[in-house]
Amino acid sequence: MAERKFIYAFAEGDGKNKMLLGGKGANLCEMTQIGLNVPAGFTVTTEACLTFLENGWFPDGLMAEIKKHMQGLEKATGKGFGSDSNPLLVSVRSGSAMSMPGMMDTILNLGLNSKTLPGLIKQTGNERFAYDAYRRFIQLYGKIALGVSDEQFDGAMSAVKAKHGVTQDVDLSAAHLRELCDAFLSIIRQQTGKPFPEDPYEQLEIAVQAVFRSWMGKRAIDYRKQFRITKDMANGTAVNVVTMVFGNMGTDSATGVGFTRNPGTGENVIFGEYLANAQGEDVVAGIRTPKPIAEMAREMPEMYRQLADLRNKLEAHYHEVQDFEFTIEKGALYCLQTRNGKMNARAMVVTSVEMHQAGLISKEQALTRFNPMLLEQLLVPTLSARFSGKPLAQGLPASPGAASGKIVFDADTAEMRGNLGEKLILVREETKPEDIHGFFAAQGILTSRGGKTSHAAVVARGMGKPCVSGCDRIAIDVREGRATVGDAVLHEGDVITIDGSTGNVYAGEIPTVEASFFDEMNILLGWADEIARLKVMANADTPRDAERARRYGAMGIGLCRTERMFNDGDRLPIVQEMILAENREERVAALNRLLPIQRRDFKGIFRAMAGMPVTVRLLDPPIHEFLPTAEQLEFEISHLRHLRAAVRDMEELPDTLKMLDPDLYLSSIASLEKLRSSLSQYKESRLENAIISKKEAILKKVHTLHEVNPMLGHRGVRLGITFPEIYAMQIRAIMEAAAECIKENIDAYPEIMVPQVCTLQELAHVHAMLEDIRAEVEASYGVKIKFKFGSMIEVVRACMRAGQLAQVAEFFSFGTNDLSQATFSFSREDAENKFLPMYNNTGILQDNPFEVLDVKGVGRLMDMTVQWGRQTRPDLKVGICGEQGGHPESIRFCHFIGLNYVSCSTPRVPIARLAAAQAKLKENDYGKDIYA
Ligand code: ADP
Ligand code: MG
Ligand code: MG
Repeated sequence: MAERKFIYAFAEGDGKNKMLLGGKGANLCEMTQIGLNVPAGFTVTTEACLTFLENGWFPDGLMAEIKKHMQGLEKATGKGFGSDSNPLLVSVRSGSAMSMPGMMDTILNLGLNSKTLPGLIKQTGNERFAYDAYRRFIQLYGKIALGVSDEQFDGAMSAVKAKHGVTQDVDLSAAHLRELCDAFLSIIRQQTGKPFPEDPYEQLEIAVQAVFRSWMGKRAIDYRKQFRITKDMANGTAVNVVTMVFGNMGTDSATGVGFTRNPGTGENVIFGEYLANAQGEDVVAGIRTPKPIAEMAREMPEMYRQLADLRNKLEAHYHEVQDFEFTIEKGALYCLQTRNGKMNARAMVVTSVEMHQAGLISKEQALTRFNPMLLEQLLVPTLSARFSGKPLAQGLPASPGAASGKIVFDADTAEMRGNLGEKLILVREETKPEDIHGFFAAQGILTSRGGKTSHAAVVARGMGKPCVSGCDRIAIDVREGRATVGDAVLHEGDVITIDGSTGNVYAGEIPTVEASFFDEMNILLGWADEIARLKVMANADTPRDAERARRYGAMGIGLCRTERMFNDGDRLPIVQEMILAENREERVAALNRLLPIQRRDFKGIFRAMAGMPVTVRLLDPPIHEFLPTAEQLEFEISHLRHLRAAVRDMEELPDTLKMLDPDLYLSSIASLEKLRSSLSQYKESRLENAIISKKEAILKKVHTLHEVNPMLGHRGVRLGITFPEIYAMQIRAIMEAAAECIKENIDAYPEIMVPQVCTLQELAHVHAMLEDIRAEVEASYGVKIKFKFGSMIEVVRACMRAGQLAQVAEFFSFGTNDLSQATFSFSREDAENKFLPMYNNTGILQDNPFEVLDVKGVGRLMDMTVQWGRQTRPDLKVGICGEQGGHPESIRFCHFIGLNYVSCSTPRVPIARLAAAQAKLKENDYGKDIYA
């Protein structure tokens, strides 16, 4: 085997090769080569580490190589390793391809021994400094290389302090520190059975091996597991041997860490901390409080100027915000480390815009610098950063954002208390469409059952309200009005806080921070819109939603669900009347009352979205969803019957009492008589009978409407064909709203969409109805209405018949929630509650297909559908309106198969805008093998 090169001097290593040199080593090489002031040093490669870990000893010749490079350092510094007059000291620092903060070890001041110590004193003229360096070295080396625990050393330190009545480290004198060094050396002898190694090369060899071994230490292994760092990402650690520089050589020396820009706000100023006359560890150990870098401008102006220069050079070279470490030794500034700075979302956005405007990065780089999901932080309220309490329970992070409020267990109470201006969290086992008014009234939703695409999650996301779902540690007893979590019992009115970004639930109120759009975000998203080919629409059901969608940059509404309008408090009774109708006339009468309400809704939405398309989906869910459940009705009926029986018993009470206890009867006769007469009055009204029979009628209807598989049953277009009056009313409401808008000079552009279609005939049937109504409305209003007619694609057969459907449909919209259900034959709720988590954990399925579009199955089906559809109608407009439409990876795929738009919940719109731009910018490295 050809001899491998295991060591690179900083002047020769390839700054791009992080796998070989580690991130720290590669950047030390790069900085050296672009002329920054880095202390001389070299990097021992990760390959040497892996060979060592495999064999248990160094590769052949490695120690000789190390010696050669140490001689290079001696030459560069004019000092001698082991010299008793002018000693060279080094640090031995770990560093792998992925940053693993605090996981592996660094040894400072290596090369000190009883011989070189006097040399260091001579060199620096500072005895205290030298003994301080020595005792630090013995401790670090003892711990890392020899495995002696910190407690041993800390015990000796306390003993010396106590003996001399000293409390602070800085108050220890040279003599105290010398005593401490002796104590430390004897601890080493005692604990290891051997004296402290005097030979500097022996020290170095053992130190390098210890750093190599730390790669396989428990701490490091756990860390890699936790953060999913695979061997492809980082394999082994490199070791950097770096000439020591000292920040504790007087008031013209210092040490610190900095960011080239503020990582919390993005502000374009150096951000960080420093300590004058100190070593690096002092900052970390918190022994002294560091000062903000801004203060350096006053305290050490020349140094600050050099630091500003360093910062400019770093950014000019890396084109990225840097997080760097520096030390100033007697007025000379050294850079000891740099890496890309980790920033929060706000700083990412601000720096993207400002770095482009300053010419540091291109617009493309500004738009691809970060994962669009990071924006989520900026679009929802978050828990105050200062808060760090323990959660009461944890569920699934179903809709991001944080909210506090009083617990309510049902939607009606939520509405009532909400109207009083109270802040509420709706807490339920699971939610149903009829709970919608509770959603409007609540700040957030917590459920004990259901996954991230449960009804609660989807509706909450659509409204931009926080939701924690599937929090199964909470047992909810609605009738008793209480919830229990372990030992804790929560009642209606108790305040809790939920964090839908983490799934955490807390007791009590925790302060939150509001989201807001800021200038840089609008600028960045504006650039994204210029570049993206996909348009981004919002799923929005009310004029208020629509206005918000527009503020978030939606370019139209891709899905307006009319059933959400049916569920509103003032409409539900009419909708129920329509459902309970015994014949067509009764049904039409109820629908005629709904017509003006729907027309008003649509008009409001068209007005809010003037100039943009609004895709309205005709009624989709099975109609039993608008009625209470059978259990609920049975429960209520049995209560009313009990009441009726109780009334009867009350009437008999006086006679019974007279028999049993005449005295008691006499004393209470007056009030008993009063009660009896008022009860009989009530009985005559027969109110309870009327209510009971109404409820029984509903129950009967519920039983007739019962379906074994409602999601595959009488819903969508099937409903529209069997009860044509319903779709006719909706179509008329849309057309009339559009006509009224046109008359008011509002540019309305409805797109009518039919759900659950599986044959061309279904679509043609609704289309014929539409044409009749349109002609009528256009004639009576004297206007011409611009609109499109299209189909949801959410049934597998519709995909297969796309070419035929496109004869009538001018657009397709993939309903990927149902389409994924249909393609997998997974019922979403059951899958997420039962087997899906296990499938994901064991890798049987990589992602939840209801969150991330399943490209290989569902996606491929979509791809074929688009092609077949466009063969018939080349300008067929195609979009997606399922949950996945707001997920960056899915958006990338939608771009790839040539969709025209994605539609997602409003809070996701900015994320989708950025993702759409990234999809365009990265389109060339996408597409190969995606179906493999
Ligand atoms: P980490 O990866 O944990 O940040 P480092 O290898 O960067 O560990 O070392 C930690 C600290 O040790 C540095 O921030 C610096 O203050 C100090 N240090 C390391 N090498 C040297 C050196 N050659 N001269 C002076 N200080 C050093
Ligand atoms: Mg460091
Ligand atoms: Mg659907």
